[in-house]
Amino acid sequence: MRFDLITIFPEFFVGPLDHGILRRARETGLVEVHVQDLRPLFEAVESLLGASVGEAPKPGAAGTKTAIVLMSAAGKLFLQETARHYAQLERIIFICGRYEGVDERVAEHLATEEISIGDFVLSGGELPAMMVVDAVTRLLPGALGNEASSQNESFSGVAHSECESLGRTGSNHQSRTTRHSLLDFPHYTRPAEYRGWPVPEVLIGGNHAEVAKWRRAASIEKTRRNRPDLLPGE
Ligand code: SAH
Repeated sequence: MRFDLITIFPEFFVGPLDHGILRRARETGLVEVHVQDLRPLFEAVESLLGASVGEAPKPGAAGTKTAIVLMSAAGKLFLQETARHYAQLERIIFICGRYEGVDERVAEHLATEEISIGDFVLSGGELPAMMVVDAVTRLLPGALGNEASSQNESFSGVAHSECESLGRTGSNHQSRTTRHSLLDFPHYTRPAEYRGWPVPEVLIGGNHAEVAKWRRAASIEKTRRNRPDLLPGE
């Protein structure tokens, strides 16, 4: 997977790309990251694509494996399912805006999508682009190593029928089906007791079936408490 980050602040990315899973993914060649000066933008993208805009096969069209993503507070919301979709691609070119934003013709004629990382306004697209790079990289097979898995995390998605079995069927759930999922269950590490706060008893017993049951219930409870909008019918 190749990421290109187009920005007026190329040095911005020096730190974030050098730690943890992202660093390891770059070192092992799982991902390649290139940072490019933004000006002039259309030419920067054309030199990356090796063709003029308009002549190159339209990225984002069915079958193409390249996306040109404009980071924008006015874009479509980036969700874990967006990350899963991007993880199937071969290349993502990010355009990071600054100041009042980016000329609308970029959204109209250059970008294949306009993406927001949340309902708030930041001062630049670099942090949002980094967040997308991070979320996508950790979904690539091999990125997490053996010690962890992205199969069983917050937003990893549960079947619609499973959410319905939570007894929360509501009239508007159809339109929100793709957003139904549970948050991760709580994790604990050693020691079993810290400052008088114990780890839940069941987790110490080593009864796998009981642990699985507890985790599922804790996951539902946490979702209900922090993100009831993720449950059907809430
Ligand atoms: N005038 C714009 C905000 C510009 S902020 C508006 O009201 O929508 C400057 C740049 O920061 C944007 O071009 C975009 O690249 C980035 N940015 C700000 N908030 C963002 C968000 N929530 N998601 C993605 N990018 C964002």
